[in-house]
Amino acid sequence: MLAQRTNLFKSSGTAAAREAAKAAADAGTDTVDLTVGEIWSDLAPTIRNGAIEAIRRGLNRYTDTVGSMELRDALARKVSVETGQLWRADEIAVTSGAKQGLFNVAMTLINPGDQVIVPAPYWTTFPAQVRIAGGMPVHFDTRPNGYVPRVEDIERVITPLTRAIVINTPGNPSGAVYNAETLAGIARLSMERDLWIIFDECYGPFTHDGHRHHQIVSLSPDVRGRTVIVNSFSKSLALTGWRIGYLAAPKELISAVKALQSHTTSNPNVIAQHAVLHHLREGDGAFETRLKDRLAAARQTGLSVLSELQRVPMPGAQGGLYFYLDLSGILQPTLGNGRAKTADDVVAALLAQAGVAGVSGTAFGDPMGIRLSYGIPPEQLEAGLERVVRVLNTWN
Ligand code: PLP
Repeated sequence: MLAQRTNLFKSSGTAAAREAAKAAADAGTDTVDLTVGEIWSDLAPTIRNGAIEAIRRGLNRYTDTVGSMELRDALARKVSVETGQLWRADEIAVTSGAKQGLFNVAMTLINPGDQVIVPAPYWTTFPAQVRIAGGMPVHFDTRPNGYVPRVEDIERVITPLTRAIVINTPGNPSGAVYNAETLAGIARLSMERDLWIIFDECYGPFTHDGHRHHQIVSLSPDVRGRTVIVNSFSKSLALTGWRIGYLAAPKELISAVKALQSHTTSNPNVIAQHAVLHHLREGDGAFETRLKDRLAAARQTGLSVLSELQRVPMPGAQGGLYFYLDLSGILQPTLGNGRAKTADDVVAALLAQAGVAGVSGTAFGDPMGIRLSYGIPPEQLEAGLERVVRVLNTWN
């Protein structure tokens, strides 16, 4: 009945986990939802005021397809500061969240049959979008190296069909932060092997324990012409629902994105654009600092609960907003005829026995992992993780 294309994707694993949590809560179960990919927070005052101002001014018209010129100018300045190079508005496209930005990139960069390297575990949308664009995601396991790819592992999976590599640092779901040396190595490889770099830094502001987020273009300016920077205000301003993201890339690519977006969504919502512009102009960084502090405190609370885990190693949680647990120690292969258990079984047991919802690593190409968000209110986080520890410590 439907187009064959629909076989290339299904509703994202994270969305399905969120729905399971909601269904349990709706059925009256006391549920702690650790599936969320967002931060529990109030609205930044500058965002609120910018949106109110937009309404007072009666803004109601289309803006330029890839964002108002003022916002693109402001974003070009932001990217210039972050990369240490000069960017112009024609190298910026504002999108309805980073997700649309990434989709635009997939559709404008990938030819049918092209391969795109997506290190695993990966955010589930990356390979789905590659497939929708007609490409083929190519994965390799980063678990042996603390969820960060080794350059030689990337090199091993490059073929003549390889078109691009996706870098997501800090990473969802792993929370791993790529160090400068790794990024410089990837940059070198992309030059040698003529690859595009899709650089998703949506969690860039959130790094912990002395880990630092590095921008690949500032480390290796030579790759600027083959890099697409993908970013968003969803996480950095706790603004998931407002749907403002952006791309920074060579202007030929931005022009193609503009043409594509002109046939899909046109400009992102004008009120949200204006609110973000107002924030970029008037924000003093205090809101961001508060958000980071809140997340760091939640991480600390969570880690102290998780330190009670007996058979599961402590997560690194170097950046982002997730604890990613490696369950391979408790999911030993089953001998005999029994089906080997995976993180799916753990996630189902957590929901059924403890009323805690997490996301199984199978959604991220890793049947041994589970993702638990710490972007929720501290009391809930503590209670939820205590239950997780109880179930995992008695798992057999
Ligand atoms: N990139 C990564 C790595 C993400 O985890 C997410 C959301 O969870 C996004 C992009 C998309 O963010 P948004 O579309 O809300 O800007």
